[in-house]
Amino acid sequence: MRSFAGLILFLITFTTTIQEAAWGIEPDEVREEVTGKLRALSIRHSVEIQALRGSTSPESGLAIASEYVYKKYVNVLEKELAIYPPGVLKKFGIKRILLCGGIKKFDQHFGGWTERLKGEIVYDAKRLTTNPDSPNTTARLGIHHEIFHVLDDEIYFDRARQAYSDPGWKAINQPGFVYYIFGGAKIDPIGIDHSVPGFLTGYSRHSIMEDKAELFCWKIVRPDLVDRARQTDEWLDRKNRRLEKIIKEFCPEIDDAFWGKRVAELECID
Ligand SMILES: [Zn+2]
Repeated sequence: MRSFAGLILFLITFTTTIQEAAWGIEPDEVREEVTGKLRALSIRHSVEIQALRGSTSPESGLAIASEYVYKKYVNVLEKELAIYPPGVLKKFGIKRILLCGGIKKFDQHFGGWTERLKGEIVYDAKRLTTNPDSPNTTARLGIHHEIFHVLDDEIYFDRARQAYSDPGWKAINQPGFVYYIFGGAKIDPIGIDHSVPGFLTGYSRHSIMEDKAELFCWKIVRPDLVDRARQTDEWLDRKNRRLEKIIKEFCPEIDDAFWGKRVAELECID
């Protein structure tokens, strides 16, 4: 199953590259276009946004993507970052966003990675093609998931104690619930899985941090699914209200109007 998906990914990437080359779009032109867009995005959001190029060390765990891959991803990233009012990403604590062509850490592949307490996010630009059925939703969720991790650390990471703690969130769970990271039931990380009350996805059950990041990114991308799930789930409803409250207290720009706009601008079709 995994190797089949890998083959599809390879074929899509390969075919796209051949196609674009056949249209006469030179890599240098694409590179220039990508660089220009990244520069404009950096200025707009007061965050350094770059693509990984040249050579990379194996220790970094990062791979380089082609300019064609970066070009596609930048278009999605531009649209997603535009959701946030000006200055908000900087306020969240984000200092740098880096695009690459693969992230491998601790022998695992990741679609996105946050360098904790540095305000740095790395996105795998190839992620756009890793799910042929719904590439944009996957990429969009990943963008906002990592953004939330930086914001969450900014609010809840105690730098003096060098520890993350949000007991108020933990208290919302049903008595006896144990997150996967602390020895709970194994999870399926992909997509919506509302089989356990209080959790929207399987990955939400990993840890408090992932629970919050998952709820946040689905609220941004598919607020309709979150609203539907919390209608019959009091724990999820409480988490939803708490998430909105803690973000608004830290960043008043993320208010009811912001969330209302997410519903109004809902895009169900990729
Ligand atoms: Zn995460």
